[in-house]
Amino acid sequence: MDKAGWYTEEWADQGSAISLRVKDKVHDERSPYQHIEIYETETFGTLMTLDGLVMVTDRDNFVYHEMMSHPALFTHQAPRRVLIIGGGDCGTLREVLKHDEVEHVDQVELDERVTRVAERFFPELCAANDDPRAHLHFQDGIRWVADAEPGSYDIIIVDSTDPIGPAAGLFGQAFYADCHRALRADGIIVGQSESPLFHASLIKAMHEALRGANFLDVATVHFPQCTYPSGWWSATMARKDATLAGFREQACHERAFATRYYNAGIHQAAFACPEFLFKTLL
Ligand code: SAM
Repeated sequence: MDKAGWYTEEWADQGSAISLRVKDKVHDERSPYQHIEIYETETFGTLMTLDGLVMVTDRDNFVYHEMMSHPALFTHQAPRRVLIIGGGDCGTLREVLKHDEVEHVDQVELDERVTRVAERFFPELCAANDDPRAHLHFQDGIRWVADAEPGSYDIIIVDSTDPIGPAAGLFGQAFYADCHRALRADGIIVGQSESPLFHASLIKAMHEALRGANFLDVATVHFPQCTYPSGWWSATMARKDATLAGFREQACHERAFATRYYNAGIHQAAFACPEFLFKTLL
């Protein structure tokens, strides 16, 4: 935060940045894993940063959390057991629990302090944390998946930080192979995959690693996320069995819960691959 009251996150390698005008910094702590800061901004509500990088703002987190969850949950034919890796702000968990057919969610977040701080400053994202179907665990997600019973989940959602430090392994083939084993035969994995514009080569590497781990039908959804690098973000999804039925469009139209970004049209449009990304992924 500078003297004029702006929070700025610089993307030095891309020669660009985002700035949000800030009213106040309301929390600052160093957990065993990262630097957690909370700001009150002038127009984006509350902002959480981890190690100086924007994670969540009140104003635009709905796009990310809905796109990390509903495309996978409306593609799986009967999503009952879900694993979320990371996701400590609990916004993705809240979206997953909107699906009545979900019976059990394990959320495995490395840093308990992220969740405790979110409970205090983002209570609406944590509104479903007391749902009896939600089980919060605080440990390394890579270890959790390595130890998971084979075929114990329908969907794995990797809602992680950028691929550095403890999150780096969440983008690798060895982790995906463990996820493949932990999923049932009709299982789906989805992971946040950074910016299509800035990180297309990372998305390509993710596709290759998922295929290398025997996942099929690898596809990237993309969506606007104005407070993340380039303002454009993505999630990459893959299935164990590509012959199964896909998008449950009717169920999506008839869903009994509210969304603010996701709907059936967005679902279909989000899978359309921009030409430059298509060529990168060839
Ligand atoms: N929305 C954010 C984004 O895309 O920038 C990501 C959400 S943030 C809550 C991601 C979380 O992943 C962090 O709280 C971090 O502690 C957690 N995380 C990073 N590496 C992890 C690991 N190996 N196991 C479990 N959680 C991890």
